[in-house]
Amino acid sequence: LASLTHHPTPTVVTVGSVQIGEGCPVVVMAGPCSVESREQTLTTARAVKALGATVLRGGAYKPSTSPYGFQGLGIEALEILAEAKAETGLPIITEVMDPRRVELVCGYADILQIGTRNMQNYDLLREVGKTQTAVCLKRGMSASLAEWLQAAEYILLEGNPNVILCERGIRTFETYTRNTLDLAAVAALKSLTHLPVIVDPSQGTGRSALVSALCRGAVAVGADGLLIEVHPAPEQALKDGPQQVTPEGFATLMTELAPIASAV
Ligand code: PEP
Repeated sequence: LASLTHHPTPTVVTVGSVQIGEGCPVVVMAGPCSVESREQTLTTARAVKALGATVLRGGAYKPSTSPYGFQGLGIEALEILAEAKAETGLPIITEVMDPRRVELVCGYADILQIGTRNMQNYDLLREVGKTQTAVCLKRGMSASLAEWLQAAEYILLEGNPNVILCERGIRTFETYTRNTLDLAAVAALKSLTHLPVIVDPSQGTGRSALVSALCRGAVAVGADGLLIEVHPAPEQALKDGPQQVTPEGFATLMTELAPIASAV
């Protein structure tokens, strides 16, 4: 179902007034890694909206490698995201980790994010497949393209056609970056699948200083959108501070991205 052979025309996923896919303007989804407070989220939402983002990201349920790490504010965070959406009009992308919470998260999310650690959580994939809410399926950090497309197949098979793939970096021997952002995957997917492909250079590099360059690279190789972490004070972030850009950094990034985005 995911293959271009089966479905030769590109899929465009519609989220409110935003269209994601081949032939549509590059979609910028931006916001904090985690919803930490009302103020932090609203400040970020206003800033990214003013600078041209069209979807707000924010984690309510956080997949933390360490059980001692910040786990997210849960429902409180979902309520904050709802307030940010009501104020800015930005649709929301947020992660769902547990099949038992899909219905709850669907009540708030315009795009359900499946994180790298859950790309092969087949019960979760089937559950989001039973909804019609858009799903952003992140690449498993050790997944091949074939495995990733098989995971997308689980969602499509349940009847949800609104699947977006997100390259977020894979594990390699390199340690300078948190992950190795595989931009070749983006170009390759364009010849394998009709599904929209977006790129997350924040998780992909773990370094805010590299995010702008990788956004430009991603769009140049054909990405349909970007998922970018923005925090008003990254040094105070409860999670993943080093990869989050400030609103000022995001402004520069958007200026640097504009010529590439308008050329593709
Ligand atoms: C995230 O985007 O909040 C996240 C945890 O990403 P990933 O699943 O790619 O690590």
